[in-house]
Amino acid sequence: MSDPVDAQQVSDLPLDDLVACHECDLLMRKPHLAHGEKAQCPRCGYELYAHRHNVVERSLALVIAALLLYIPANFLPIMQLNLLGQSSEDTVWSGVLGLFNTGMQGVAVVVFLCSMGIPLLKLLCQLAVLLSIRWNVGRSYGLLLYRFYHHMRDWGMLEVYLMGVLVAIVKLADMAAITVGLGLVCFISLLLVQVRLEMVMSPHQIWQALSGEDIHAGD
Ligand SMILES: [Zn+2]
Repeated sequence: MSDPVDAQQVSDLPLDDLVACHECDLLMRKPHLAHGEKAQCPRCGYELYAHRHNVVERSLALVIAALLLYIPANFLPIMQLNLLGQSSEDTVWSGVLGLFNTGMQGVAVVVFLCSMGIPLLKLLCQLAVLLSIRWNVGRSYGLLLYRFYHHMRDWGMLEVYLMGVLVAIVKLADMAAITVGLGLVCFISLLLVQVRLEMVMSPHQIWQALSGEDIHAGD
């Protein structure tokens, strides 16, 4: 737990020693954490930040895994549909093209951005930020890209897309023979890798590293 500070103490402390709770705005003295420790808000219990081992290396491995899954997730068939003797295989990309060709260009663009464009941009931003920390080059561009990444976070909606696919499978299951494709397996794996990446890539340590502080990236 961290120590709350009053107004008098705030004016005496350097800003770098203070941290505000994201949930309840309580202002606290920043605790120094050892590896594996977490700081919690004493008022609401929100996790302020954690100090994790090998953040950069583990995050890099996850980003590369996610990028490798990205192509099969989007271009391999999500499902195969057999209805009245006709069979069709659908991928995320063919779904976007299908919407575009049936006159729903606006919806096609939104689906493309939320399910393919922004998730890819997010991963590339994370890769560039991590490489700039790992190789110690272009930290100022890294800061800019990491800010950009935080703005994009709410626009990548893979989980919404997955829910849509699952609802479609359940609804169509009675009407047609559906076979789940390898694309869906890759898509779910991509989602899980990204959830793990969000947990491992501690923003507090990444901001610290980008601003030039030592986060013991190598130990
Ligand atoms: Zn709080």
